[in-house]
Amino acid sequence: MPYLSLYRKYRPQRFSDVAGQDAIIKALGNQILSGKTAHAYLFTGTRGTGKTTVAKIFAKAVNCENLQEDGSPCCECDMCRGISEGKYINVIEIDAASNNGVDNVRTIIDELGYRPQKGKKKVYIIDEVHMLSGGAFNAFLKTLEEPPEYAMFILATTEVGKVPITILSRCQRYDFHRMSAGILVSRMKDILSWEKHQAEEKALSFIARQADGSMRDALSLLDQCLAFNPGETLTYDEVLDDLGAVDVSVFSSMAEYVSGGNLKSAIMLLDDTLMKGRDIQTFVIDFIAYLRNLMLISADGSTEADIADVLGVSSDTYDQMKQMAGKFDTETLMRFIRIFSELSSEIRYSPQKKTLTEIAIVRLMHPEMQDDSASAKQRLAIIERKIDRLEREGIKQSPASAPQDKPKVRKPLPEALPEDVRMVCDNWGRIIKDAQEMVKGILAEARPSVDGTRLVIVCKDEISSGSLKGYDGEIREILRRETKKEMDFEIYGPGKDEDPDAKYPNLEDMINYDEIKII
Ligand SMILES: [Zn+2]
Repeated sequence: MPYLSLYRKYRPQRFSDVAGQDAIIKALGNQILSGKTAHAYLFTGTRGTGKTTVAKIFAKAVNCENLQEDGSPCCECDMCRGISEGKYINVIEIDAASNNGVDNVRTIIDELGYRPQKGKKKVYIIDEVHMLSGGAFNAFLKTLEEPPEYAMFILATTEVGKVPITILSRCQRYDFHRMSAGILVSRMKDILSWEKHQAEEKALSFIARQADGSMRDALSLLDQCLAFNPGETLTYDEVLDDLGAVDVSVFSSMAEYVSGGNLKSAIMLLDDTLMKGRDIQTFVIDFIAYLRNLMLISADGSTEADIADVLGVSSDTYDQMKQMAGKFDTETLMRFIRIFSELSSEIRYSPQKKTLTEIAIVRLMHPEMQDDSASAKQRLAIIERKIDRLEREGIKQSPASAPQDKPKVRKPLPEALPEDVRMVCDNWGRIIKDAQEMVKGILAEARPSVDGTRLVIVCKDEISSGSLKGYDGEIREILRRETKKEMDFEIYGPGKDEDPDAKYPNLEDMINYDEIKII
């Protein structure tokens, strides 16, 4: 027998088996029992929430000869079996994604002229109905207005906004909601017991979170994990491995490093995570989800149980997150989410996924690179912490024991001359070698240029220049060390349509490229 996915193998056959859509199946069941069904329905909702499943049960029920108490089909009478076996063509399923033209609709309309051979209704289930072309919708409209009494349409869509209002207004509409993690977990548990498997609670909760309210996603992830781990009990670690996902402790460490300004540890943690075979895109998306949870906790004033439920996390995880959330204010967390959301779309098609992620981490730690109010607030908080510390240290040191030497005053250096700037350009590769890793990476991709007595560091784009601006202190130091002069410099990143060569001369020929090491 060919392998049948869990989702299809355990597709509910009766209303009572459908999870998480209680109000909808109750309303539909009542209509069946009272015989007051409409001739057109619209089922909307995100993928995997049970639209097609419910449509199939409903279509069978309107023809069943031996209805169950809740309006479900019996699945045993001649009609039910005939429909399942394809003997009676009373239920016709059409995928509008691949049959979206006027001709496809005309075929339906032509067929509709014939009564069902047996049974009460001819039911058309049109999946992804928003994919129909404009012409197809128009052709369909007339039929939807005055269908034969034996016809019924069930239109299903994930994007109700794309269905014309003229169609919507002729349908009874039902909105299928995403399922809670609890519902997904409980369904997975049932299926596992039928399949004679077990799983750690934590493993199933994780799958449920990844599935984000979709039963189909939850079951196909479960399928995937079981295929890799035929052993008796599916563990949390196995699930993480199979899905290329990252344990939440990694995110809390990352947040910890960001709050402490510990760039080196943050970059090493990222490295380590990727070395373990985790997918960077998943990492970024999951980190956004983690930050979003921190933000909600930080913004929340209500009692613990409420928000922990909303987040779908265990009370242990909640306690840890609450502690972490206390280290940031809500606006800072929102800024983090914005930076990482931008990153998630940026890296989708970029070959430089890791570098871009590192840059984003730098941006988290350096609010001075941005001038919005959230960044300003974060800067202020950093300054306050520093003042606090200075005051505390000041109190500890009694005046008598305080060291008497004056703070070192830096000797002013002479201004740099054009030839000094030129020297820096010519020796760019050697000069940037001593910079710290992150800065060196960006400087190696940049090229130096001259503007009078000013050095211009021409970055490859605005993202790089933005990141570099957080390190102007370090760059100034490098230039001082190298030239023993005070050199004016500018960090420049060309905008989308700007030509950097036109603005600042490219000195490429004069630079000794052998010395530049691209890391
Ligand atoms: Zn039946």
